[in-house]
Amino acid sequence: MHDIWNAALRELQTKVSSDNFESWFENIRHHHYADQVFYLAVDDDFFKAWIEDNYLDLIEDALCEVTGETMEVVLDIEEAFDEGEERQVELDEPRKAARSARIDDGGQAALFEYTDEGSTPQELDQKVSDSGMNPRYTFDEFVVGTSNQFTYAACRAVANTPADTYNPLFIFGGVGLGKTHLLQAIGVEMLDRDPNAKVMYLSSEEFMNQLITSLRNKDMNTFRNQFRNDCDLLLVDDIQFIGGKDSTQEEFFHTFNALYQSGKQIVVTSDKSPQDLPGIEERLASRFSWGLIADIQPPGIETRVAILEQKAEADGIEMSSDVAMLLAGSIRSNVRELEGTLIRLGAQASLMGTPLTVEFAREMLDRMNIDHRRQIGVDEIMRTVCSHFDITVSDMKGPRRTRAISEPRQIAMYLSRKHTSHSYPELGRKFGGKDHTTVLAACKKLGELVEMGDNDFAHSIADLESILFR
Ligand code: ADP
Ligand code: MG
Repeated sequence: MHDIWNAALRELQTKVSSDNFESWFENIRHHHYADQVFYLAVDDDFFKAWIEDNYLDLIEDALCEVTGETMEVVLDIEEAFDEGEERQVELDEPRKAARSARIDDGGQAALFEYTDEGSTPQELDQKVSDSGMNPRYTFDEFVVGTSNQFTYAACRAVANTPADTYNPLFIFGGVGLGKTHLLQAIGVEMLDRDPNAKVMYLSSEEFMNQLITSLRNKDMNTFRNQFRNDCDLLLVDDIQFIGGKDSTQEEFFHTFNALYQSGKQIVVTSDKSPQDLPGIEERLASRFSWGLIADIQPPGIETRVAILEQKAEADGIEMSSDVAMLLAGSIRSNVRELEGTLIRLGAQASLMGTPLTVEFAREMLDRMNIDHRRQIGVDEIMRTVCSHFDITVSDMKGPRRTRAISEPRQIAMYLSRKHTSHSYPELGRKFGGKDHTTVLAACKKLGELVEMGDNDFAHSIADLESILFR
């Protein structure tokens, strides 16, 4: 029977990538065979669950290929084969079992239960700071808009029922869009519920530094213990830094497995999706994809205004809605910058004893070299482009596709996408009910031409922008 398994392994090797093969198949051992059932042993519940979810059919096919017979495959961890029925039942559905254990029994479950005794706000802040987090990064202080509502909801779900909904939760998005804020909000929420919960927050760089120190001090046990046994919720910020750092990844991989297996929640943030992360081993990337992957997009103008208003209130800065509009229109892609600029403006106005007016804000933005272009709309862009090329707006919105009309139309689409926050489908509608793929194609084509520079399109676009933002 061992020979059959070895032959099946060779078969499997041709069906999966070598990374996956190494991660998942090399450690499967043939245990025994009885009544058409092929029993395989694996190292732990984590492996068992993963292989069952992803590779069971493949394994059965490979065995069938080798033996010419259909066989059922049963996986379990080695000890479990000797322990008999009870254990067997629990292991058949380890995740379900772990889940109901948390609901049913008071033991382990206490970790994540609501505790009404709670702690005072000061005590909570202290706990939050002790865990290396910012007490201001709460769900309440996070402004929700279309660009982040999915991730926000996922984080709330994870905070409400850790390790039960999405595990791991993988959050990704550009700089300054609120990843760290949401990550910590999960931790703050959990500490609020249960002051004794063991929440660990750290960046992947800190993880690596601690690992290096422990290796140097030959104190790996303490290192491993604190992550594997002394942690209910692991929040790892900016995982991209461990790309290419092989031994850190190796250690993180094992930490991940140990936590996952004992039903602990893991949340990770990154600047890219798991597939796009350079230098991350496939077995780690595949674990990241196991739970839920949620991305955060740059906020639209309304959300930016709402964020400014919320921060102004929190910091006691008097700000009119004109100023909010000006700032939100000038700083588009990064909430941290938006917030930083508001705070600087507020501080300067109060130092100089002047109110924060639009004029004052413009002047300050000039000095900070932030170009404060006014907000423009699609209608204005269309009108400007049409008059530049001497066509009518109804032609632009109409169906005709002669070059004299389609080229200005594409330029207007490109400019609208670049300078307003409308989506492709919205733009399609504004351009007289065109399909969003038409808008997308125009933006892509012109984006490339602008990038190349020195062609008629690039020149027209530069001219038009200088007219629009005069
Ligand atoms: P990231 O980790 O994605 O680079 P951060 O979480 O550090 O971004 O966010 C940068 C700053 O912007 C933080 O002060 C955060 O509180 C704030 N911020 C980002 N998004 C929001 C939001 N939707 N509502 C309120 N504050 C936000
Ligand atoms: Mg961050």
